[in-house]
Amino acid sequence: MKIALYPGTFDPFHNGHLNIAQRALALVDHLIIGVYSAPRKQSLFSQAERIRLTAEAVAALNHEGRISVDGYDTLTVNFARACGATVIVRGLRNSVDFDYEWQMAQTNHFLAEDIEVMCLFANEPFTFLSASLVREVVSLGGDVSRLVPECVARAIADMHF
Ligand code: ADP
Repeated sequence: MKIALYPGTFDPFHNGHLNIAQRALALVDHLIIGVYSAPRKQSLFSQAERIRLTAEAVAALNHEGRISVDGYDTLTVNFARACGATVIVRGLRNSVDFDYEWQMAQTNHFLAEDIEVMCLFANEPFTFLSASLVREVVSLGGDVSRLVPECVARAIADMHF
């Protein structure tokens, strides 16, 4: 059974993340979405909220138990090993992502040679989309409902600034 880990901060989980999760799921038996704790001052959602919203968002993929969502606050390769994952999935939007992902992949390979990093190119409609862009639009009162899954849009609408 091929298990992959899709790690990230997912603050918040948006349509670009959902697209990567869907495409990765087609390549493996089980996909674990690992929500990194990443304590950051301006985080939109707590780790617990990000886990809940990510799980609710991927339910739309009708994955029949093939996706699980879990939080972690350790080295990604250690979390992957603990989950039995042999593949780490990442998404690539542009050359800026490439430089960062290349360095991360080399580091992860240095730390854990038994784990492969698999990068999927972002699909065209999502190449401009980032969680930081969503956070910025939200903080300025803009409408992000076409950029994020419905459950995330609802959670944002319920927030009080
Ligand atoms: P990070 O892991 O740096 O905190 P995120 O949680 O936002 O970043 O994203 C997790 C993963 O999803 C990363 O591999 C990132 O490159 C990828 N990703 C982010 N936005 C998109 C997008 N619009 N399309 C495809 N992949 C994306």
